[in-house]
Amino acid sequence: MNTTHASLADRLPEIRARIGAAAARSGRSAEAVTLVAVVKTLSAEVVAEAVRFGLRDLGENRVQEAQAHQLAVPREAARWHLIGHLQRNKAGKVPGLFDVVHSVDDLELATALARRCREAGRVMPVMIEVNVSGEASKFGVMPDALGPLLEQVAPLEGLELRGLMTVPEAVDQPDEARAAFARLRELRDAGAARLGRPLPELSMGMSGDYEVAVEEGATIVRVGSALFGARRA
Ligand SMILES: *Cc1c(COP(=O)(O)O)cnc(C)c1O
Repeated sequence: MNTTHASLADRLPEIRARIGAAAARSGRSAEAVTLVAVVKTLSAEVVAEAVRFGLRDLGENRVQEAQAHQLAVPREAARWHLIGHLQRNKAGKVPGLFDVVHSVDDLELATALARRCREAGRVMPVMIEVNVSGEASKFGVMPDALGPLLEQVAPLEGLELRGLMTVPEAVDQPDEARAAFARLRELRDAGAARLGRPLPELSMGMSGDYEVAVEEGATIVRVGSALFGARRA
């Protein structure tokens, strides 16, 4: 417990400072970038502690784990971000548990989620996950299919299309991810032009590369291990 305290107390200001410096290098203020603390696999106790440290945006990979965490951390104590792959049959649980969904990547999922949000009387901010590096094993829509998907998702009632998200292929050096982040920004610009309206959010950058992501225009970074230490699983 104390170790966690000490480490989060050390790491959080450092990470916030690095985000602020990277934002300044891209001509923006620190407030232009939201730090989502990725709490997957953490105990509910640690999640509660993160909230006490002022982290107000929490990222979850799984619907069920979010449910477990919310037994310890009040629903309204944070904004809950679903960043992991969502199965269509779990869409019904999303409006009650989450405030933002980063991982919409096909029309059937978007349609199911939109219907569930309408039924719950909510409008859910969503991002489209893009498989920028084109790896076969990954989630996310391929770049060449993005334009049509944006046009289909944008009008869905119950969803508010906010931007794009990506998880680039793992690299050794943060700078190797730069091209993927720049590509997501270009895809966002092209998508916004196609829709004729802004797509303000770019959710990109994790523990190893969030500074590069912010330099390339990230408005949301998703940071887990750099805040909480290496995950066991
Ligand atoms: C786990 C995860 C993160 C955080 O990863 P770290 O390297 O621990 O910062 C970010 N985004 C997604 C989609 C994840 O699954």
